[in-house]
Amino acid sequence: MSGLFSAAFLRQIGWDVDVYERSGVELVGRGAGITGHPELLDALIKSGAGIKDLGVEVPKRVAIDRQGRVTDERPLRQILTSWDRLQQLLQSNVDPAHYHLGWNFERVDQDERGVRVEFSGGRTEHADILVGGDGIRSSVRAQMAPEVQPIYAGYYIWRGAPNEADLAPETRESIYPLFTFYLPPRQEIITYPIAGFDNDLRPGHRRFNFIWYRVADAAQLRDMNVDETGKQHEFSVPPPLIRKDLIADMHKDARELLPPALLDALMTIKQPFITPIYDFTAPSIVFGRVAMVGDAAANARPHMGFGMAKAGTDAMALAQALDSHDDIDAALKAYNAERMPIGNIIVKHGRKLGTHMGVNLTSEEDRKMHEYLQSDGAMLDSIAVPNFLDAYR
Ligand SMILES: Cc1cc2nc3c(=O)[nH]c(=O)nc-3n(C[C@H](O)[C@H](O)[C@H](O)COP(=O)(O)OP(=O)(O)OC[C@H]3O[C@@H](n4cnc5c(N)ncnc54)[C@H](O)[C@@H]3O)c2cc1C
Repeated sequence: MSGLFSAAFLRQIGWDVDVYERSGVELVGRGAGITGHPELLDALIKSGAGIKDLGVEVPKRVAIDRQGRVTDERPLRQILTSWDRLQQLLQSNVDPAHYHLGWNFERVDQDERGVRVEFSGGRTEHADILVGGDGIRSSVRAQMAPEVQPIYAGYYIWRGAPNEADLAPETRESIYPLFTFYLPPRQEIITYPIAGFDNDLRPGHRRFNFIWYRVADAAQLRDMNVDETGKQHEFSVPPPLIRKDLIADMHKDARELLPPALLDALMTIKQPFITPIYDFTAPSIVFGRVAMVGDAAANARPHMGFGMAKAGTDAMALAQALDSHDDIDAALKAYNAERMPIGNIIVKHGRKLGTHMGVNLTSEEDRKMHEYLQSDGAMLDSIAVPNFLDAYR
């Protein structure tokens, strides 16, 4: 996403841009829901991608208890979109002649005039700058700043997006249309409606974004990263290979813990999958003529649902810096000075909200935040709310 945003914004200021994507086939999301923060909508509009049929609007957020009764609520209109829809909008905004699938970045060399980039298969490109938008496990960052490594947060998510039509009528009528929280100790379940397959926004044809945060230490995560065939994975297991015993244990816990509507939604997920939560900050996001954007530059825990907004605003800031400086190196320095601190703030804010989970509380401030976030109302006021960055300005 940060690559597509960068291409759009750099084209607007008159640059020639090519996007090189490692995957050999068109990327499709796993039904992931995305919060429509004002910064994301602004970046979509300004990039030219637009916000047509962006998603589903919820009127409010509610917290429920084990019986499914509402314990607290906040009126808050928010558009919830999906990874697939953003990909469609952003990709249709980039000239297909300059979007290249199946090009895996391998290394970059640079001098004062620009970069020479090598891709797998012996392909080479020369350019004024390289924009590294290759995600949390960025190969570009691995070369430029190998000491910067994502840190495991001590918890992970079970996720899935069941079809609206497969949910029980009571689930569809109660929690489906809302942004819903269920918050037992050291856990967090969040659900909201999103578009269906191929951005189908018709009632009855949509999906339901389901996220269940659970605690696991590094040893437990390592065990969970052994797949159905016995193979050990380093970061996470591809969804179809997640071990059946893990899914069975998760279903057993769900029967004991979850309110009826959430249990119904969870049991309707055909292929639940696991996302371990990592984050990191970097002391610099520019290395000579190489500029990092999006998750590759800094990656926050997903409590604010702000990753896409950051991808868009990083890209916009990069283009603005290049447009307002005659000298490329001075522009990249200005970009670094503006966006590196913002990335750090977003990551720190994610850690603050993560104290809800009660893991690795190392300071008095952490413990106070953890206490504060034990109330349903405090979580409704904090998680994925718009304009959270205003508090830091
Ligand atoms: C559980 C969860 C919930 C989330 N919820 C939200 C939310 O509600 N709202 C939100 O805005 N964000 C959310 N996010 C975050 C969001 O998904 C990311 O912030 C966003 O995808 C970042 O975009 P990106 O382009 O920087 O990186 P990515 O989306 O990771 O894209 C990186 C791209 O680089 C390619 N690539 C990697 N290596 C190479 C290489 N060597 N050569 C060429 N190409 C390469 C990859 O194939 C990929 O296409 C969530 C994330 C998680 C894990």
